[in-house]
Amino acid sequence: MRLSSFVTAAGCGLLMAAAAPSFSSAQLPTVPVPDTAYDPVEPLVDRLDLEKYKNTIKGLAQFGDRRQGTKRNRDAVAWIEAQLKSYGCQNVERITYQYNPAPRPAGAFRGRPPVTSPNGKGTPGNGPGGSRIYSDMREHGGNNDSLSQPDPAIRAINMEPSTPGERQEVICMKVGTKYPNEMYILGGHMDGIGWGQAVNDDASGSAIVMELARIFSMPDVQTERSIRFALWNNEETGLDGAKAYVAQRGPMQGKENPPGSGKYPEPKWLGMIQHDMMMVDHGPPTADGKLSPNQRPEADINIEFASTSKFGDESMKLAFFWRAANEKFATHYPASVGPHMTNTDSDPFKDLVPSLSLRENERGREIGGNWDPTHHQPIDVLTTFTDKDFMLGLTSAQTTLGAVGRLVGAGVKK
Ligand SMILES: [Zn+2]
Repeated sequence: MRLSSFVTAAGCGLLMAAAAPSFSSAQLPTVPVPDTAYDPVEPLVDRLDLEKYKNTIKGLAQFGDRRQGTKRNRDAVAWIEAQLKSYGCQNVERITYQYNPAPRPAGAFRGRPPVTSPNGKGTPGNGPGGSRIYSDMREHGGNNDSLSQPDPAIRAINMEPSTPGERQEVICMKVGTKYPNEMYILGGHMDGIGWGQAVNDDASGSAIVMELARIFSMPDVQTERSIRFALWNNEETGLDGAKAYVAQRGPMQGKENPPGSGKYPEPKWLGMIQHDMMMVDHGPPTADGKLSPNQRPEADINIEFASTSKFGDESMKLAFFWRAANEKFATHYPASVGPHMTNTDSDPFKDLVPSLSLRENERGREIGGNWDPTHHQPIDVLTTFTDKDFMLGLTSAQTTLGAVGRLVGAGVKK
């Protein structure tokens, strides 16, 4: 019986007002969070801005769908790197890896094994990540027809096909003043597919990571622990960029290098939080399977953990900590917690550290039930989305900034 875990989780609202939850003693912020009216994290959350978030999304969208293995993808990597440097983010680096998939027969699905239905129909039953889908609606397979993009300018940007070979992705860091040897990892994936602009999937999540990197890098912001900002590549081919990071950087964790320098190129991982598809909560699709036109009034953000992972219980506590941060810091939309985190870059971390994904909908029963018909389609472009959609994305930014700010002991220098 895991009642005690649920009691702890339900009590996180109180914990949020007093101190961070105890994942382990090593991860506890050492300075108690004051319970007075002054909150050291609030002024940082207040620096988030809808127009700036939208501009970062637009910056990514200029490179079309940013498909891995193309010049438009490499140009986007270089643009992200330049942005992070301009923010003053520390230790901007590129992770280099190879992506050489086995050749597939012509016409075969390129990417992860599909969890989709060609006609958007199915029968009630199992969905992605151990979820259950009660309706007969299913997400469609990704669009594979470049000519289906009606905008000629976007079609031209997306013309080049993917070529196997070397890949790169950008990371940077906020170095903690007291515990530079420990960090939380925040991620979003900068690559996309579908011959649109990959705005929702996943410029919307990448822009959250970049906006948080911008704010935490401001000269007057200090954190006790470190934060890693990661803009994964090759998510759409099977999480290959995140897997390369785990393989290359996992063994470097917590090692001072050079010895005696006080520098930790890869601090010990305390948790990983992924942001993937942040803007569309329009409810179920219309009867003909199209995107329902408006953000639903009861829209929420969805914080998911993998209950079957090695760190299931710790991840659940972290998820409710994130939910409490939403209640404390978010201005527009609430958050819900679910147990079926799946199909995104937090997956390679889930048996190594507590791991979460933040999304617009539950990946399994909702996106799996076609609640986001923009997914991997030509309509995943800037013109599809309204400020209510962008605001849902900013809600996740407020939530993560508040939560991770608490966990790393963030504040404005006096
Ligand atoms: Zn995605």
